[in-house]
Amino acid sequence: MIQLLNYINGSLTEPLSKQYINNIEPATGQAYSHCPDSDERDVQLAYEAAKNAFESWSKTPLEERMLMLMRIADGIEKRMDEFVAAESKDNGKPLKLARAVDIPRAVSNFRFYASAIQHFASESHQMPGVGVNYTLRQPIGVVGCISPWNLPLYLFSWKIAPALATGNCVVAKPSEITPYTAYLLSQVCIAVGLPKGVLNIVHGLGSKVGQAIVEHDGIKAISFTGGTETGKRIAATAAPMFKKLSLELGGKNPTLVFADCDFEETVKQVVTASFSNQGEICLCGSRIFVEKSIYEKFREAFVTRVKTLKVGDPNDADSNLGAIVSEQHKNKILSYIQLAKEEGGKILCGGEELGADQRSDRVKNGYFISPTVIDGLSYTCQTNQEEIFGPVVTLTPFESEEEVLMMANSVKYGLSATIWTNDLKRAHRVAEKIEAGIVWINSWLVRDLRTPFGGVKASGVGREGGWEAMRFFTEPKNVFVKT
Ligand code: NAP
Repeated sequence: MIQLLNYINGSLTEPLSKQYINNIEPATGQAYSHCPDSDERDVQLAYEAAKNAFESWSKTPLEERMLMLMRIADGIEKRMDEFVAAESKDNGKPLKLARAVDIPRAVSNFRFYASAIQHFASESHQMPGVGVNYTLRQPIGVVGCISPWNLPLYLFSWKIAPALATGNCVVAKPSEITPYTAYLLSQVCIAVGLPKGVLNIVHGLGSKVGQAIVEHDGIKAISFTGGTETGKRIAATAAPMFKKLSLELGGKNPTLVFADCDFEETVKQVVTASFSNQGEICLCGSRIFVEKSIYEKFREAFVTRVKTLKVGDPNDADSNLGAIVSEQHKNKILSYIQLAKEEGGKILCGGEELGADQRSDRVKNGYFISPTVIDGLSYTCQTNQEEIFGPVVTLTPFESEEEVLMMANSVKYGLSATIWTNDLKRAHRVAEKIEAGIVWINSWLVRDLRTPFGGVKASGVGREGGWEAMRFFTEPKNVFVKT
């Protein structure tokens, strides 16, 4: 058993409770590590360490902060294989996905914000003949970063890097379901000499550690990524305390396929956008709307392609989908498939756990669901309105641009959308009318780290990425000078 530890005040420490939670490998269903079951006392220690470190870290020259973040990035990169294996084992995602996406992106996050802090400028507003205003952008102090299990280090570092770059000290909590790479990150921080207390990682349950971070008086801002219900709870606690809040929440993203799209390419890309990371990416498209004139042709081509996806051991190079992150989440997804049937949906492929005959011995007790495509459902039914967050998509035909916009915008969420068409005017027109924070036209998940990232409606409040994150993690202070 691997023993994970908290990272508080520059050292790896046991939780004060001395209690641990079993950490399960989803591909095998077996516990392989112990994750600290920390509580509010560990959060308090982390807070004190961060508070003590703030005075010095916030005044550290930008170049030194930049170099420190670069060293963390290099430190992860040097241990790439270990990080990749840990992320895949912890989450169930295919090893090749962790190698191609998750860990390289965590490295990029640190490099990106190391560079950003060197270029981040604040405003000045001149009043001719009167004076000049200049705006200071000062670090907030101690901030809380809470992240989910689907892209563990990717999203954890997406918060931590800008918070540290702007001079804040951090108390962070990864998901207790996928704590392993956050633990490896703490080893890297020690190895590269990050000053003690600047970053503190407290492992444990959301209801204990997460809640204690959100409730802590001295933690002035919360950057959270996770489910909408958790976000609601966090907002209810943090808003009356006047904390700064960034909430990146759930989605139910529409995919709009018009008859004039590049058919083959669209089918291929939409399959990827539906089932990458077992559909457990907040940006995956789960409601696919297809123009009626090509509906049947698309359905056939789409289902044929989905059937070629291989679900299996994340360690196998030919696995396209790995394991679902936990037994509880697997059961939630299966219950939605059952609901879809009750709502009159027709399962076109998948719809069940991976059969025993399709599993190798190593993964016979793991959590696997075949990629599932359903049609015949109304756009208003529960299956089409609620986030499933798994390898399940629905197909729905549409007749007109107005109709598809109405259906796409009918959910409470508004995170992302994709539009597939060769009509440029329509693409822009529809992008403008879609209720989403991010729209991709003829592509999916192309990320430029400078762009604003986040959702509208129940998908969140605020934006991450680029200057948005730098602004979130700083307080503007306007100073007027009479001239
Ligand atoms: P979750 O249950 O909301 O948990 C997210 C994080 O919050 C975890 O670290 C969790 O700890 C913690 N937490 C739980 N209760 C808390 C509380 N009362 N106070 C403070 N923290 C608390 O979400 P998840 O199941 O891990 O992730 C899936 C969800 O994340 C999906 O809805 C997905 O759409 C969303 N997501 C959104 C984005 C985006 O950018 N918009 C990106 C990725 C994922 P525990 O793990 O211990 O419960």
